[in-house]
Amino acid sequence: MKKSYLVAALPGDGIGKEVMDAAIELLAAVGVSIGRTFHIVRHPAGAQHYLDSGESLPTETLDACRAADAILFGAMGLPHVRGADGTEIIPQLDIRFALDLYAGVRPIRTWPGLPSPLASTRASEIDLVLVRESTEGLFYARGRGVMEGEAALDTMKITRHGTTRVCDFALQLAQQRKAQGKRGHVTNVDKANVFLSMAYWRQIFEERAKAFPDVSTDSAYVDAMALNLVMKPWAYDVLVTENMFGDILSDLIAALVGGMGMAPSADIGDDYALFQPAHGTAPDIAGKGIANPTAMLLSAAMMLDWLAHRHGDSVLADGARQIESAVQRAFSEGAVLPGEFGGSSKTADITRAVIERLG
Ligand code: ATP
Repeated sequence: MKKSYLVAALPGDGIGKEVMDAAIELLAAVGVSIGRTFHIVRHPAGAQHYLDSGESLPTETLDACRAADAILFGAMGLPHVRGADGTEIIPQLDIRFALDLYAGVRPIRTWPGLPSPLASTRASEIDLVLVRESTEGLFYARGRGVMEGEAALDTMKITRHGTTRVCDFALQLAQQRKAQGKRGHVTNVDKANVFLSMAYWRQIFEERAKAFPDVSTDSAYVDAMALNLVMKPWAYDVLVTENMFGDILSDLIAALVGGMGMAPSADIGDDYALFQPAHGTAPDIAGKGIANPTAMLLSAAMMLDWLAHRHGDSVLADGARQIESAVQRAFSEGAVLPGEFGGSSKTADITRAVIERLG
């Protein structure tokens, strides 16, 4: 049985570096607790690296990602660092395309002890996962936009292959959640009433849903979903959607539980997987040591779950449960309160509080 795992760490820019330090500290402690070693090697990439070297995602870094058992990613991009076409330097998008990480998995749940931005007491029931297609959709247009006189055109691309695999991923996830006693329901989110591309997406979703008779499904338009996710987020289990809609709704669902610092994520493909907080580099708070590291710590737990499944090493899943339960206790015991929730706990305070409650 494998006892040591190689992890490629890409801290990136801004608070990406700060929350990555927290995750590395946490994984060292979890490793001791479960009898596994995480050999974590930092690699350069990001907007600052682009300024320093002319490269945002060096080939050596991408090769190291391919050679590792898993990839941990902080955050990348700085508002003032832009390419010739005016768009930001965003290597996380390049990695998704390079490693074919097609399923962006964004779980959200309420944590007892933290104030909720929603007034309803049912907010305590929020427990959903958004699955965002991450290799095509409207993001296909990135770097391919065309100018026609004074009009700019970006193209949305929806393929049978790309849609089938991400819908299957969401349907399988719902099956797994059902086995854990959750609802096991997938809501497809699209705009099939307006766009051919989205009507095709819905047709494929409905075809694939038939192959999973134990999973209940429905479909909704993205505008109605923006409303319902605020009005009754507790009603949803698994959502699956196109790349751009997923980008927007991920931030919306993070807000439902208090902010970006609570939203972990995974970008999963058939051969590789990358784990990163759903937030960006947060230049407004970078360098102050006040970023909430929870999203990154929970992303590390998602990495352990994925590695456990891939290598048949259930001890790693125990490590993931230890992290989740330590986070839960740190907040429910009132040991720390992140700045996003009006508290004054610093990144290091939150990391320490979680590590102290492991095991
Ligand atoms: P990107 O486009 O790269 O995803 P973004 O424009 O969505 O980035 P973020 O960097 O995620 O922006 O920041 C959005 C807001 O959330 C900012 O006010 C930022 O300070 C806050 N924020 C993000 N992450 C955290 C965190 N870990 N802790 C505290 N506040 C955070």
